[in-house]
Amino acid sequence: MVGFMMENLKPVLSFKNVSVSYKNHLALENISIDFLEGSLTAVLGPNGGGKSTFLKAILGLVPLQSGEIQRFHLKPKDIAYLAQQTEIDRTFPLTVHDVVALGLSQTKGFFQEIDQKTDITIQKVLEKVGLKETANRSLHMLSGGQFQRILFARTMLQDAKVILLDEPFAAVDRYTMEDLIKIVKGWAAERRTVIVVSHDLEFVQSYFPQSLLLARNVIAYGPTKQVLTLENLRQAKRNSREWEVSNLENNKTMQFFKDNV
Ligand code: ADP
Ligand code: MG
Repeated sequence: MVGFMMENLKPVLSFKNVSVSYKNHLALENISIDFLEGSLTAVLGPNGGGKSTFLKAILGLVPLQSGEIQRFHLKPKDIAYLAQQTEIDRTFPLTVHDVVALGLSQTKGFFQEIDQKTDITIQKVLEKVGLKETANRSLHMLSGGQFQRILFARTMLQDAKVILLDEPFAAVDRYTMEDLIKIVKGWAAERRTVIVVSHDLEFVQSYFPQSLLLARNVIAYGPTKQVLTLENLRQAKRNSREWEVSNLENNKTMQFFKDNV
């Protein structure tokens, strides 16, 4: 098992020999790691290395080919998830207020009337993310950075024990990034377990105490300094070249069959 333990901290999630495949494409292979309560982890790795799949596996959104993920005492509502922006449809006709209110839906139930108290709560979180004037705006009017702030506001309201963020800083300006990382740090200080996919090495080195380098397999997991070595990064790259080549071969074979068979 790759992992490390600190005194008094309990694991909240535990991967045991987990593999995930899409049809015949292996996305995660034999992952065995634990996440401790209150830990703040960055997930890094090459494109197609299985980072998004890894978060989806925690949520139970993809079937495991083998192994298991123990979620200890977590109920579904204890896990908050912020998908990669490319996977979110922003043309849906919702206002900022609606989107943030969705963060409460798991505790209050969908379609329950939003009372005045709730409205104040929503105003408060919007203020915390620096957007109190935007409640009535519709989603497509927001910049990438504003949209990400809104999603953070929603996540705040969900009050989850485990928070999973998939590339939350990819489409935002530096200023927003720094505001949002403060929120992330705050969550970890409240002993929530936070797992964030990011490909910004410098940023990860400055803010994340631990890292997981993922390239279908776990290349390294532990204190960020020990994970992000040149040697480990090279290994991750080598892995990704291998599957790129094998994808190419598969595609060539497919093409051959299309052309000739
Ligand atoms: P990352 O987030 O690290 O870029 P992903 O987890 O999105 O990687 O993808 C891992 C691999 O699985 C990639 O090769 C990707 O093409 C493939 N993959 C991801 N989602 C699907 C899907 N729904 N169907 C088929 N293949 C997928
Ligand atoms: Mg991804």
